[in-house]
Amino acid sequence: MKTELLAPAGDMARLKTAIIYGADAVYFGGKQFSLRSRASNFTLDDIREAVKFAHSYNRKVYVTVNIIPHNGDFEGLEDYLKKLEEYGVDAIICASQAILSLCKKVAPKLEGHVSTQQTTINTAALQYWKDKKADRVVLGREVDLKQLKEIAGQADIPLEVFIHGGMCANYSGRCTISNMLTNRDANRGGCAHSCRWNYHLWHNEELLDREDYMFSMGSKDMCAVSYLNDLLDLNVASLKIEGRMKTAFYIACIVKGYRYLLDCYEKYGHISDEQLLKGQSIIETGTNRDSFPGFYPGYSIEEGQLYNLTQTASQNFVARVMKFDSEKMEAVIEVRNHFRKNDTLAVMNPYTDDCAFKVCAMFDMDGNEVEIANRPLQLLRIKVPVRVNEYTFIRLIRE
Ligand code: SF4
Repeated sequence: MKTELLAPAGDMARLKTAIIYGADAVYFGGKQFSLRSRASNFTLDDIREAVKFAHSYNRKVYVTVNIIPHNGDFEGLEDYLKKLEEYGVDAIICASQAILSLCKKVAPKLEGHVSTQQTTINTAALQYWKDKKADRVVLGREVDLKQLKEIAGQADIPLEVFIHGGMCANYSGRCTISNMLTNRDANRGGCAHSCRWNYHLWHNEELLDREDYMFSMGSKDMCAVSYLNDLLDLNVASLKIEGRMKTAFYIACIVKGYRYLLDCYEKYGHISDEQLLKGQSIIETGTNRDSFPGFYPGYSIEEGQLYNLTQTASQNFVARVMKFDSEKMEAVIEVRNHFRKNDTLAVMNPYTDDCAFKVCAMFDMDGNEVEIANRPLQLLRIKVPVRVNEYTFIRLIRE
């Protein structure tokens, strides 16, 4: 069985980006019954279009139906599940036994994947979900590699594990910090990520903060590149990237990096150190957050602690391609972050290495030469060294 690379999609543009950059499957939430309710969730029409697009590339679509439902949350759920089945969605990701049972009853063609919010971290729990007719279990992030090896050796059900993205300061999602501080229910789509805020730290009456250093309960993000050979050797069904709130550029970089690494493993049976470094550097172009390998090295890990979230914003992503004239090798680009004439940029396409070039000249749509691109969404004409398309990102190479 080939291990799947599963990517998040906050909206249609990000879904298409994930697929074009090499995700085998994508997951997102609908307008109802899903967490991340602020992540530009999909309408039913969007879901139908998403399935059509993904299936045309032979990729899969999973819809999160992962609220922890209270009694009043079931209205409309049966019809919703039937619609997902009718539109050809491949699976739902659910965090509730009640929703899984209902799905199996009213929409039996939909696979039921048990969400990480169930904190499934032992073989007995896996067997429980197998008995309840689940088709896959997303393991809790709180499993280390040694435990995972044991679980994977005994499991009688396909496993999905996280490889990248934000971590919860609690067992994934089992948390009411957001409810308490913001009145937003983390388990009904409203998590305000309160654990990642900066807090003042007091000891009795004494304020302990340094001027530039406050306290956060969040951890660094997960990046499991260094554990990828181990995870692939275990033949898990799916490797999951977190981040439905992230940008299309982020999704492109992360998916491209992991796609490259998974393809290396498939081709050579092992990912070399050099290939791991290359994959890591592709991934790092998309993010400016510190990372650690999650709990894979062991359950307590100092490396993941992050007490101060002050991080400088990266402006690597500077433009998107809107049009391309192959005869003139000229692109119309939409400016997203500033850059200047004579800067070195790079074209980022799926599957090929990035191609660097110097900006010798750029022009606005009236033909006037422009020295500094600093107006967001301005359209500019610019020569590019390779063919580009609507999925190409232009990034700044910092000297
Ligand atoms: S507040 Fe933090 S720990 Fe709680 S659910 Fe949200 S991300 Fe997880």
